[in-house]
Amino acid sequence: MSETSITIYNPPADLVASAHVAGFAAYEALCKEAEADYGAYWGRLARELISWKKPFTQTLDESNAPFFKWFADGTLNVSYNCLDRNVERGLGDKTAIIFEADGGEVTKVTYSQLLAKVSQIANGLRSLGIKKGDRVVIYIAMSIDGVAAMQACARIGAIHSVVFGGFSAQSLRDRINDTGAVAVITADCQVRGGKQLPLKSIVDDAIAMGGCESVQNVLVVKRGGNAISMTAGRDKWMADVADAQPTTCEPEWVEAEHPLFLLYTSGSTGKPKGVQHSSGGYLLHAALTTKWTFDLKADDVFWCTADIGWVTGHSYITYGPLALGGTEIVFEGVPTYPDAGRFWKMIQDHKVSVFYTAPTAIRSLIKAAEANDAVHPKSYDLSSLRILGSVGEPINPAAWEWYHQHVGGGRCPIVDTFWQTETGGHMITPLPGATPLVPGSCTLPFPGITTAIVDETGADVPNGSGGILVVKKPWPSMIRTIWGDNERFVKSYYPAELKGYYLAGDGAIRDEKTGYFTITGRIDDVLNVSGHRMGTMEIESALVSCTDLVAEAAVVGRPDDTTGEAICAFVVLKRPRPTGDEAKAIAKILRDHVGKEIGPIAKPKDIRFGDNLPKTRSGKIMRRLLRSIAKGEAITQDTSTLENPAILDQLAENN
Ligand code: ATP
Ligand code: MG
Repeated sequence: MSETSITIYNPPADLVASAHVAGFAAYEALCKEAEADYGAYWGRLARELISWKKPFTQTLDESNAPFFKWFADGTLNVSYNCLDRNVERGLGDKTAIIFEADGGEVTKVTYSQLLAKVSQIANGLRSLGIKKGDRVVIYIAMSIDGVAAMQACARIGAIHSVVFGGFSAQSLRDRINDTGAVAVITADCQVRGGKQLPLKSIVDDAIAMGGCESVQNVLVVKRGGNAISMTAGRDKWMADVADAQPTTCEPEWVEAEHPLFLLYTSGSTGKPKGVQHSSGGYLLHAALTTKWTFDLKADDVFWCTADIGWVTGHSYITYGPLALGGTEIVFEGVPTYPDAGRFWKMIQDHKVSVFYTAPTAIRSLIKAAEANDAVHPKSYDLSSLRILGSVGEPINPAAWEWYHQHVGGGRCPIVDTFWQTETGGHMITPLPGATPLVPGSCTLPFPGITTAIVDETGADVPNGSGGILVVKKPWPSMIRTIWGDNERFVKSYYPAELKGYYLAGDGAIRDEKTGYFTITGRIDDVLNVSGHRMGTMEIESALVSCTDLVAEAAVVGRPDDTTGEAICAFVVLKRPRPTGDEAKAIAKILRDHVGKEIGPIAKPKDIRFGDNLPKTRSGKIMRRLLRSIAKGEAITQDTSTLENPAILDQLAENN
């Protein structure tokens, strides 16, 4: 570990006094309650946060592990819980969504208006014969229509599978094929960074590839008014299907275990998996984590910048905040258009109080802000902010400190939330009014979540030694299976040697004194250099802490005859990509810096510079591709989720 001293940030006094989980003792009391009677704890919360049509009598059914069931004999409707319930408790005129389009136009909908819209779409879907259990693929950009389409599926018990609008026809085709969808909901186009990008024509291409014969209807929302072709009998404008429908719609009451959605993982480590989530347990954790992790209150303006194509957009846009009757932002555009101050301007304009984004966005905005004062957060009034969040990748301490100081004005706690598509909601995270923060650590498990670190045999490892991150007990919002592949589900997440624990696939370490968790990287990303085990994350953080030079870094191992594994670093600088002698000189500076921060053993053997790094469409670094490049291999793996294929050639060149 780095020898540099660690700063601890205590929760602000006003939050300790007023938060939903107020103070560390309150956090500990919840953990104790869960430990004392696990079923009773989750049962209590499920009754408090969810309206059940038929109350459940059993909380957890473990009889067919690892196919766990939660609240199995209860029935509910997720859309009823997110909409009708809020209208019934007097929030009908409250703003549910503030939508800001790419070009800056703002549209607001209240809870009553959203309920009416969702009901019309739901009635429209029913009029086409779509019913409980049918799969509906949603391929649309960030919009009120997108959120409403998801809610409408939930209302009639159809299972949605949202495919991020940046995916190609091939990826879309594969997902339609895997889900066996009866309908696709899309738009004529999407608008990003001032440009119209096609959606409907990509759906046409995907279906034309074959294997999508299950699709009977393609419903098209009008966004850009661009010319598209409509296949008679199959394609319809959403307006023609929904607008004349009644604005009320009896929800389909479903069992708690009824699948709410399928969502494919981002593919950082392999072929994407169709993760299946439930209705009751999922909704509980989405709502509960929104409440406690973000301390969401009635007058908050919440903004999660994720796309609804990712799980973060499901739990923290479509379901969690609406289940609590919150007001939230939905943003169509990109953080760098019309300039890299867009996020800061939107926080200022809409008086956002809770802001949740990804390290990849923060790192790119740091780079832009340092080059241009006009897009630096200091040029905006960000005083409405009270809580910041991070998700998707580990956030390096250097980026954390910048986010804390420049965006949060030094006063807003940062919740570094560790979780996965498979977990449905936060697993390890600070609670803003309870948990003292250490930059770079996601701190402690959410109350009731039993994360632990074990070795390859499932035995606990002591604090201070790294190991494999597991979850010991099932939890309500856990993955139920991989769609259509129970065997792959068991093999991927419940391998026999781990004693029935859920295998997250990430490595982690707990601090010796505090027990705080730090994610060290994917299990495959642990390096063994001359017998020393090191997480790639630690070396990346050391590189990024060279704040004058480095914008972003990714570290992988490659086989080495003498040391077993050699460290290979891919680095994006805050200046143009160097070549020749300049590259050699900068590489030396970086090697020495890592040597000083961690120790000579951690000095990267190879350092390569790029204009960027290969990333998934959700912005995560794809280290598996970098591993091939480091070894000098041709890339033969699944690259369907890769955002910027051209970068592979550049990184393969030696500079
Ligand atoms: P695939 O499973 O297909 O390889 P993926 O794991 O990137 O893709 P997601 O479910 O979107 O798909 O991401 C979850 C992973 O993201 C976690 O397992 C972890 O590696 C990383 N992650 C998410 N949040 C954090 C965080 N706060 N700190 C560290 N890592 C995080
Ligand atoms: Mg994963």
